Amino acid sequence: MTDLYRLLPEEMEKLVIDMGYPRYRADQILLPLYYKFPKNINDIPQLPKKLREELAEAGYTIGSAKETHRVVSEDGDTTKLLLELDDGSSVETVLMQYEPKKIGGHPRSTICVSTQIGCAMGCVFCATGQMGFETNLKAEHIVSQVIHFAEILEKRGEHVTNLVFMGMGEPMANYDEMIRAVRLLTHDRGFGLGQRHITISTIGITSGIDKLAEEDLQIGLAISLHAPNNELRKKLVPTASPHSVEDIIESGRRYYKKTGRRVTFEYALMKGINDSPEIATELAKLLHGNGSHVNLIPINPTAGDFQRPSEDSVLEFERILNNGGINCTVRVEKGTEISAACGQLRTDIVG
Ligand code: SF4
Repeated sequence: MTDLYRLLPEEMEKLVIDMGYPRYRADQILLPLYYKFPKNINDIPQLPKKLREELAEAGYTIGSAKETHRVVSEDGDTTKLLLELDDGSSVETVLMQYEPKKIGGHPRSTICVSTQIGCAMGCVFCATGQMGFETNLKAEHIVSQVIHFAEILEKRGEHVTNLVFMGMGEPMANYDEMIRAVRLLTHDRGFGLGQRHITISTIGITSGIDKLAEEDLQIGLAISLHAPNNELRKKLVPTASPHSVEDIIESGRRYYKKTGRRVTFEYALMKGINDSPEIATELAKLLHGNGSHVNLIPINPTAGDFQRPSEDSVLEFERILNNGGINCTVRVEKGTEISAACGQLRTDIVG
């Protein structure tokens, strides 16, 4: 079976032409896929019945991911979905909404997309990492996460504004499917989201960062650093050894040089582990002069033993970075109480 959400517009055209139909039939499939959210091929009535039947006979389908559970935070700003995939596995995905800014009074609606079930990187503070690796998601399963939320938002007269590849899994470890999903989601005959509204987050797989820099894409890159030196980083990210802190910073620089997109370094702050003023000073020295941005994330409660630092020590850490000339923000918390925040996604605990 092949989900039609897997096919790029050029592939959809080839499919209908190979089946003996005119090229425009491809757009008669693509438009409803991304704007009407059909659940099966018969939900596309503008397609000739014969073509619908032939597609089904040839093994094409729609909707290889189905919503099985939905949790909404008390303030309504965060929604977590559990999707069951056609192979029986499940994946979590999260929508975070922020106050309307200017544009049309609509909220910023960011989807935190998963690229794998579980994760092999084993970060000690991350619930997904503690699950271990289960499987790579296919591009259509990544796209489905966005489509499910697009449908929910459309009913409210809203739309998806941003995507962050920061859900379950390491995107660079599922590179080909991740990039196919990005192309489907940004193609102007696909979902049509602006490339600049997408951020890929990696634990620092330098080969993946270099590959991404070579794509003709204007997407943002976030690198999860979490420590300014290799000794501490290896304790927090046990699989970090092949990529030293220096290598990672260097690959971030190359990405910036090639794409012109500023790199964000994500830094999960853990009380008594990596939040001291000395470590802040070391981090400021490490990043000085490379024009990057640091996003401090006071750690969320997870299954591990790690604690969130006090507000004072977070502010002190931020102050030291700012004084060291490093552009820095503290991430706004979303979805902590429904286990939908950073590092909290795992499919055996829902809600
Ligand atoms: S923080 Fe990211 S890379 Fe690390 S285990 Fe969790 S999902 Fe994987």
